[in-house]
Amino acid sequence: MQQRLGEAGLLRGGDLSAYEQDWRKRYPGRALAVARPASTDDVAAVIRLCHQHRVAVVPQGGNTGLVGGSTPDDSGRQLVLSLARMKRVREVDVANASLTAEAGCVLAEVQAAAVRAGLLFPLSLAAEGSCTLGGNLATNAGGTQVLRYGNARELCLGLEVVTATGEVWHGLSGLRKDNTGYDLRDLFIGSEGTLGVITAATMKLYPQPRERLTALATCASLEDAVALLGLARERSGDALTGYEVMNRASLALVARELPQLAQPLAHAAWTVLLELSDAEGAEHARGVFEGLLEAGVERGCVQDAAIAQNLHQARSFWHLRESIPLAQAQAGLNIKHDISLPVSSIPGFVTEMDAALAAYLPGIEVIDFGHLGDGNLHYNVQAPAGVAPATFLADHEAAINTRVYDAVQRRGGSISAEHGIGRLKREELGARKDPTALALMRAIKRALDPLDLLNPGRVL
Ligand code: FAD
Repeated sequence: MQQRLGEAGLLRGGDLSAYEQDWRKRYPGRALAVARPASTDDVAAVIRLCHQHRVAVVPQGGNTGLVGGSTPDDSGRQLVLSLARMKRVREVDVANASLTAEAGCVLAEVQAAAVRAGLLFPLSLAAEGSCTLGGNLATNAGGTQVLRYGNARELCLGLEVVTATGEVWHGLSGLRKDNTGYDLRDLFIGSEGTLGVITAATMKLYPQPRERLTALATCASLEDAVALLGLARERSGDALTGYEVMNRASLALVARELPQLAQPLAHAAWTVLLELSDAEGAEHARGVFEGLLEAGVERGCVQDAAIAQNLHQARSFWHLRESIPLAQAQAGLNIKHDISLPVSSIPGFVTEMDAALAAYLPGIEVIDFGHLGDGNLHYNVQAPAGVAPATFLADHEAAINTRVYDAVQRRGGSISAEHGIGRLKREELGARKDPTALALMRAIKRALDPLDLLNPGRVL
């Protein structure tokens, strides 16, 4: 392998902790080695060799995943396959509104390549400076623009994948219509490195909106935030590109952990971040926003609001929202729930669950925020003051998860909206997913990776 990949392509010994430790520091592992191929052919060669010698492979992009899927276990026998050196944008096809990039291309660089071509690649999330296109597709990432543009799956037109036996599937199509049998692309998207290694992808691009406007609004209840969402849809339709909520505790945590960040509105029960992307220009966008927020005040669902006056302010509003995971990481381990529910049942879920958790363990703190427009909440639970986070997790994680996921399931929701399953939710998936769906998933895994060498122990 060393011969094939060269000095920079295979790391053995030395400090490999950047590849062995996940972002949340929940799954520290030990790698056999780290392979860093620079081409699809190199990836295929590595996989063939691993197949021949029965070595398990853990694909890794930016290692920002939140469910323990991208780091090796502690056996010292799993090879980390980092795609970080495969970061070329191979093609931007303006007439086809598509872009083809390698899997290790950092998301922010994919976005920048689209901008250089006068277009927009809308996938956007707080980790975009580090996460990679391959990781985004392997986890079917969502983020802040799903409301208008869909998640990674909906943005993808084609894939190039190295299979578990080291063959290359050349599926890089820029086609928007292709009904030639089973959809292999959709099988690999969201498979978290368990079915194949994504080496490149062709993604959809969109026209740049003429104007992007951001506002914050405070609401007395989550019911009011849902009412404001309805109003925003009614008034702006497709122009509504972001609708995020943050509970009081989320912004208080940011104030504690990151006091340098400006917080333009007084803390309320809920703060909403709205974004409009308007094709008709600045004046029109501002008119829509002002009308919408005034209507919100009149109907009693908005308490206070601030429209960003310039790009700098818009960025600072987004930064506030995107800093919540960082503030949480700084505050110590917490119990994360990335759940989705029909938007209509979210207020009822939160009321029930907040009360149930307060009764279960007084002083518990719920950091609740997320993409309300997509029905996706990050319902995260922190230890009561004075309780060490690690002790809190050891003593209460299982009981809290059961309460939260039971309530989600009763309402027809999902235990993983956008982060995936990895190792964190594998047992929950096994216990809660429809048995027929699980059997089909296991059959697919057996068919594509019969030796169970690709990311074993993740998802299934
Ligand atoms: P990694 O973490 O390296 O890997 C993730 C999974 O994909 C692993 O199972 C890995 O084995 C597999 N994988 C990676 N590359 C490949 C490949 N080329 N082929 C096959 N399998 C591969 N996620 C959201 O969806 N929405 C958000 O809003 C969001 N916000 C976040 C904010 C922060 C601060 C952080 C730290 C994370 C956030 N995430 C979010 C989670 C994470 O960033 C995304 O899931 C991201 O898409 C992972 O990309 P990555 O390159 O870091 O993948």
